[in-house]
Amino acid sequence: MKKTLLSLFILCCFYLKGAEVNYEVAMNQPHTHYYEVKMNVSDYQKAYFDIQMPVWSPGSYLVREFAKSVENVTATFNKKLLKVEKINKNTWRIYSENAKNVSISYKVYAFELSVRTSFLDASHGYYNGTSMFMFIDELKNNPIQVKINPYKGWSKISTSMPRVEGTKNTFEVPNYDILVDSPVEIGNQETFDFTSAGVVHHVAMYGKGNYDVEKLKVDMAKVTQAATDVFGVNPNKEYTFIIHNLTRGSGGLEHLSSTTLEVNRWTYSEDSYKGFLSLVAHEYFHLWNVKRVRPKALGPFDYNNENYTHLLWVMEGFTTYYSNMILYRAGYYNKEQLIKRLNGSINSIENQPGTRVQPVAMSSFDAWIKAYRPNENSYNTTISYYTKGSVIANMLDLMIANSTKGKKNLDNVMQYLFNEYYKKEGRGFTSSEMQKAIEHVSGLKMNEFFEKYINGTQVFDYKTIFNYAGFSLETLVNKDASLGVSMNGNKIRTVYRNTSAYDGGLNVNDEIIAINGFRVNGNVSDFIDGKKVGDKIDVLISRDNIIQTISFSLKEKGTKQYFIFKEDDKENSVY
Ligand SMILES: [Zn+2]
Repeated sequence: MKKTLLSLFILCCFYLKGAEVNYEVAMNQPHTHYYEVKMNVSDYQKAYFDIQMPVWSPGSYLVREFAKSVENVTATFNKKLLKVEKINKNTWRIYSENAKNVSISYKVYAFELSVRTSFLDASHGYYNGTSMFMFIDELKNNPIQVKINPYKGWSKISTSMPRVEGTKNTFEVPNYDILVDSPVEIGNQETFDFTSAGVVHHVAMYGKGNYDVEKLKVDMAKVTQAATDVFGVNPNKEYTFIIHNLTRGSGGLEHLSSTTLEVNRWTYSEDSYKGFLSLVAHEYFHLWNVKRVRPKALGPFDYNNENYTHLLWVMEGFTTYYSNMILYRAGYYNKEQLIKRLNGSINSIENQPGTRVQPVAMSSFDAWIKAYRPNENSYNTTISYYTKGSVIANMLDLMIANSTKGKKNLDNVMQYLFNEYYKKEGRGFTSSEMQKAIEHVSGLKMNEFFEKYINGTQVFDYKTIFNYAGFSLETLVNKDASLGVSMNGNKIRTVYRNTSAYDGGLNVNDEIIAINGFRVNGNVSDFIDGKKVGDKIDVLISRDNIIQTISFSLKEKGTKQYFIFKEDDKENSVY
C-alpha cells in the first residue's frame, strides 16, 4: 500500500498536470545571428522557479556550455517585469510571485554551423534544441508546443516534429527530450521525399552541391532499407534528413526520427559518394543503436552534467562496423572492399600506442575529457571507441557465426537488445547486460573476452577469429629505421611513444632546423630514408628559440601490418 501511494506521488509529480511550457522562435534579423526565443510558462504558480540551458547536446560528448550564447533574459507577468537572477552558469531564477502565466524572453547568438549547435545568417537558420531552449526541470515530461516564425521570404521548415493540425508553423512534441532531439532547418532549402522500409523519408538540402536528387532517392532508399533489415523493424513512420552542403564539412548527429549531416558540397561523385552513403548508413543506424538501443546513462538525459557510460564502443563502434556492413549488403562494397576497410581498422588501432594504455570501456567513459578534448599526446595514450569498437564488432560477428555454425550473427545481438530493453522494458542496459546479450545469442562465455579486450588492452587473437571465416592472417613488422614524429612544416606535432624521437628526447613544438648538418625544409623523412637501425643522428633544433643539438640512435619503426587474405587467393587478396 505504501509503495502504491509512493508511486502515485511520483507519477503525479512526474507529469505535473496542467502546467505547460511552450516556445516561440523568431529570427527577424538573421544577418545578426540572433534567434529571439519566447518561453511561455502557464498554470505553474510558484514563488519562484528556475530555468536552465543544457550544457551539452546528446550524441556529442562534450560540455559545450550553451548558456554562453544566451543574453537578455527577461520575464513578465501581465506585461509587468519580474525579477530574474542568474544563480549559476546555466540557471536563471525567475521570481514569479505566484503569477499564473509567465512569459520569458531571451536571445540566442547562433553562428556556429555544425551538426550539434545552432546557426543563423541571411541564407538560412538551423538549430539544435539543446542550444536554443531552456527547461524547467520538473516540467520536462509535459507535452510542448513550439511555434516557429521564419524570416520573411523563407518558406520552408524541415523537422521531424509533427505539425499541430490546422497550423503551418506550430509543432507539438510529447516532452522536452524530444523537443531538443528534433533539429530544425528554416529557409528555402531544396526538399524531396522517398519511401523505403515502410517509412516516408523527407530530405532537406541546404547549400549547393553536385548531388542528383533522383540518384539520391534510389541510393538512400537502398541504404535505409539495408539498415532496417538488421533489426527487421523500423520504429518510425516518417524520418527527416537535414543535409548541409558546405565548402568543408564531414559529420553527422543522430536523433530519434531525424539526422543532420554536414558534407562537402562536391561529395556526391565517385569514391566520396560512397563516403556520403556510409555517413547516411551510420546516422540512420543510430536511430536504433543509441537512440533506442541505448546504455542506461543515455536517457533520460541529465542536461546539466556529463552523462557517463562505458558503452560508447557499442554505440559508436558497432554503428561504424554496421555502416560498412550496410553498404556491403546494399551492394555498394564488394567483399574485397569490405575486408579492406575492416583490415584498415585493425592496422589503425594496433599501431596506435594508446591502444595498449586505454581500455575501450574507459575510452567511452572519458570521452568528455579525452576523445573530445584531444591534445598532442592523445595518440600515445587513448584509443578511439569508434575504430576499436568497430573491430570488436567484427570479432564478435565472426565468433557468433562460428559458435552457432552460421545460424546467428551480430544482428541477433542488436535485435535482442532492441526487443528486451527498448521494446519490453523501455529502458537502457548496463555493461553486464550487454555481455549477457552476447552470451545469450552466441552460447559463449564472455567473461574473459570482456576482461581482456573491453576492460583490458590485450591484442585480439585475430588469426584464430579470421580463420572461423576461412581467412588467413599474416603480420609484417616494419624494421626500417624511423624517427617517430609527425610534422607540421618544420615543427614537431606528435612524438610517438617508444620511438627514436621519444627515447632520444625530441619534444612536440621543437623546430627541426638540420639533421647531421644539413638544412631541413619540411622534408624530415628524406634525411631518415636509407639510414639503418643504430645509426646516430644529430638533430639541430630550436626549442623556445634556444638552439641546441639533440643526438641519438635510430630505432626500428616497429609498426605492424596485418594482412587478411583467402588462402587460395593469396596473391590477389593481400590488402
Ligand atoms: Zn555515430
